[in-house]
Amino acid sequence: MASEGEMAPHRLEAHQPDPFRLAQPRQLKEVLARHGFTLKHGLGQHFLVDAGVLRDIVEAAGIGSEDGAFEVGPGAGVLTACLGHVARRVLAVEKDPALRPVLAETLDGLHNVEVRFADVLDLDLRDLWAAFADCRRVAVVANLPYYVTTPILFRLLEAGVRMDVIVLMVQREVAERLAAHPGSKSYGALSVAVQYRAEVQRLRRVGPGCFLPPPDVESAVVRLRLRSQPAVEVDDDARLFQVVRAAFGTRRKTLRNALRAGLGLSGDECEALLAEAGIDASRRGETLSLEEFAAIANTWGRMRPRDPGAST
Ligand code: SAM
Repeated sequence: MASEGEMAPHRLEAHQPDPFRLAQPRQLKEVLARHGFTLKHGLGQHFLVDAGVLRDIVEAAGIGSEDGAFEVGPGAGVLTACLGHVARRVLAVEKDPALRPVLAETLDGLHNVEVRFADVLDLDLRDLWAAFADCRRVAVVANLPYYVTTPILFRLLEAGVRMDVIVLMVQREVAERLAAHPGSKSYGALSVAVQYRAEVQRLRRVGPGCFLPPPDVESAVVRLRLRSQPAVEVDDDARLFQVVRAAFGTRRKTLRNALRAGLGLSGDECEALLAEAGIDASRRGETLSLEEFAAIANTWGRMRPRDPGAST
């Protein structure tokens, strides 16, 4: 591990106490023990204990003193405290109320940090975002609970709130899926849905030893830069995602068969749709680019009324 001086980015060094002090197994265990807190595997509680990884996450978000930060699952507050030292305002949502006394200690004195105890999937993010009204940019930063990564990611992307960048710790396989290109083994509905809205970068791998307790899987940090406009022009987002789900719903099937089953089209309708969109019907969903999915969705929209009952 690097020395303390090397670990802290310049902006953080001016502040006391050192926000990285908790990112060490012994310190973290002491805090948790002081409050009689027992880690819950079922809530994905693997807390970060590597200051180098912590620094990389905070730096990747590029948060300045006029920016807001939203964190899902602050845990013991290791990452939250770092965010509190660089951001104008931090809002964090933690599902486990047993962490309340732990967070009261670790975030003590950080008056710009607020923690709500709730399941993030139950909250209306548009209400929460009122906290960021006076912020220049908003970053979402999270070491996500792996059991619920995909629903949380979709909730964030579909919330319709201002978000400039999302920096996430995820399971390594999920990072590969998020960044995957057509034709690769990891490419799927998640890749298309996320790349439609964001530019995805895999930043670094993170080994199990960087967490307390170590998870069974490898992890990775990814950065999603939200696009001001989706990557491709689509008449109707919902229709695009219907096509994507249908194409990947029956992997290794040709588009001819996958779309027929998934969109409720007849064989002739399916052939006509793909011909009109300029896509070979014998191709498989996992080879299609975002542009090609958009072409099918837009063509389908122009071919048939919106009423889903009409297709079945
Ligand atoms: N941010 C801390 C860190 O990096 O050390 C903790 C990360 S830990 C992987 C995930 C955290 O998310 C846990 O504290 C867990 O209790 C919390 N959590 C799990 N499910 C959640 C949910 N649905 N909504 C909000 N928080 C959740």
